[in-house]
Amino acid sequence: MIRSAKTLADGELLTADVAIVGAGPIGIALGLELVKSGQRVLMIESGGTSLVKEAQALARQQGNDRWHVPSDLAVRRQLGGTSALWGGRCVPFDPVDFETRPVVPEPLWPVTYAEIAPYLEAACAWAQCGHARFDASELPEIAAREMIPGFPDGTVRTTSLERWALPTRFGQVYRRQLEEASTLQVVTDLTCTHIACDDETGLVDHLVLQSLDGLRVMARADRYVLATGGLEATRLLMCSDDVHPGGIGNSSGHLGRWYMAHVEARVARMHLTTPPELTIHEHERDADGVYVRRRLTFSAEAQHEHRLSNTAIWFVNPQMSDPAHGSGILSGVYLTLISPIGRFMLAEAIRKAHTAGDGNVQIAAHVRNIVRDLPNALRFALSFGYRRFLRRGRKAPGFFVRSASNVYPIDYHGEHLPNADSRVVLTDARDALGMRRIRTEMAFSGTDIENVSRAMELLDRELRNAGVGHLEYLYDDTAAGVRECLVGASGYHQTGTTRMAADPAGGVVGPDLAVFGTENLYVASTSTFPTSSQANPTLMGIAFALRLADHLSDPEPPAVAAAGTARSTET
Ligand SMILES: Cc1cc2nc3c(=O)[nH]c(=O)nc-3n(C[C@H](O)[C@H](O)[C@H](O)COP(=O)(O)OP(=O)(O)OC[C@H]3O[C@@H](n4cnc5c(N)ncnc54)[C@H](O)[C@@H]3O)c2cc1C
Repeated sequence: MIRSAKTLADGELLTADVAIVGAGPIGIALGLELVKSGQRVLMIESGGTSLVKEAQALARQQGNDRWHVPSDLAVRRQLGGTSALWGGRCVPFDPVDFETRPVVPEPLWPVTYAEIAPYLEAACAWAQCGHARFDASELPEIAAREMIPGFPDGTVRTTSLERWALPTRFGQVYRRQLEEASTLQVVTDLTCTHIACDDETGLVDHLVLQSLDGLRVMARADRYVLATGGLEATRLLMCSDDVHPGGIGNSSGHLGRWYMAHVEARVARMHLTTPPELTIHEHERDADGVYVRRRLTFSAEAQHEHRLSNTAIWFVNPQMSDPAHGSGILSGVYLTLISPIGRFMLAEAIRKAHTAGDGNVQIAAHVRNIVRDLPNALRFALSFGYRRFLRRGRKAPGFFVRSASNVYPIDYHGEHLPNADSRVVLTDARDALGMRRIRTEMAFSGTDIENVSRAMELLDRELRNAGVGHLEYLYDDTAAGVRECLVGASGYHQTGTTRMAADPAGGVVGPDLAVFGTENLYVASTSTFPTSSQANPTLMGIAFALRLADHLSDPEPPAVAAAGTARSTET
């Protein structure tokens, strides 16, 4: 059942076996999995079934972090969470992420890759991105072709795949299941503002829940899960500091620290000397019709040998805003995206990234490109418009224009290394429900920046050695270029601030995602990841949520939880 808080009475007590705060992709996958094992689940969602401006404003951050996007671009408070905005790119972390490496010399992950890998197939099913096969050589339908002819896997790998979801808007796609699940109750328009703990046991006693209409109710459950997204899970733990000084799970001072995103930069172009028509520059489709795309990555051995952070690189279109590209297609898309209808076509963050430029909009030059290239531009508009916007189900994730000269700008998407000074802090400013707001203080280290140059140098060397091409740099000073690209580019992938560790000295939650010192409270979020990988994090977040569902479905509730909480009477 899905009901709004407007149907509740002030002071009502909601009860369940498991209370999940947050109905984004991770909360929804977790909740529906728990229902399968017969658990009575209560899901609390701050937003409505569609966007409510006042609820969205609750997520606003204080301050002005140079590297961070504003919350309106980074998160969405509504049923389905930020999947209302996401691109749908699904990639698992790599085995190397879980290892100690020259750039991450301490053993940080208390869970091995082998423990989480079995959950990837089901995570792909929840995300609707096909099967968990992420290597082109495993897919006979595309394995025979090389991304760059004559450049086989070695130091640089060209067979790593990303998969694309519909993109799956979890609030829409799973709405019916949420409505029909007999032991599940979703309450929207209701925000958890405090986690009330028992001052003797330290365990959660109940959740304080408030609506923007002034309603105040309570939830009691055997076990509680925060699935509110990375920043909000951190904020809730920090704000609930009456029994646990400094916030729940913060006995060692890790809460809010180690904030990671990804290092994202466009600082080079790849020139290929191979036949242009043979370059795989765009999406392919697997046998199930799922869009997949090749990423250039570095082998684990090369990462160790060259002291590299984990890195992915992919081809992109030339900057659309610069009509010098001469493409009628790119000019047509650019003019559409900067027009008033552009805002309805793409998430604002993605639209802004595609239309970025020097501020000088050269409309006449773009129109000239379209007129010169009219048949192509029209053909593209009709076919892509249908595949992206009109076709039911799976949508084309994007488009890439083939370069006749075989020259492609490349995007770097690399691991942001753990750094205790990159963090989230609580401020004295309060939101409309009286909850303290957070400020982000994102930081990138010299190594994060240098890694871009080192990865580019290695890629350039390997292209030259294979005799297939080379890189051309876009900035005289690559490090300065990386810093420029990073301004306002982080905050979409929220990692590290409730880090997972083997024991309370090392983090906020344990390997089973239970918060240290409050073992009936769990965090299901990418914020539990101690490192950030090259991978976009949501698929892995879902995999960990499914592993948590297995743990919570254990018929033997942990002794600590049974002692500290009231029994539930209804869902
Ligand atoms: C523009 C954009 C593009 C992206 N593209 C990709 C991509 O291609 N691939 C990828 O892997 N990731 C991508 N991401 C990131 C991805 O969207 C997130 O990793 C993912 O949504 C996180 O899922 P979640 O369930 O943890 O949190 P969310 O999706 O943020 O959901 C959290 C839910 O909790 C609710 N909530 C928050 N606080 C409270 C509270 N106190 N009480 C009650 N409810 C609360 C919120 O309203 C929300 O519904 C993208 C993000 C953006 C912004």
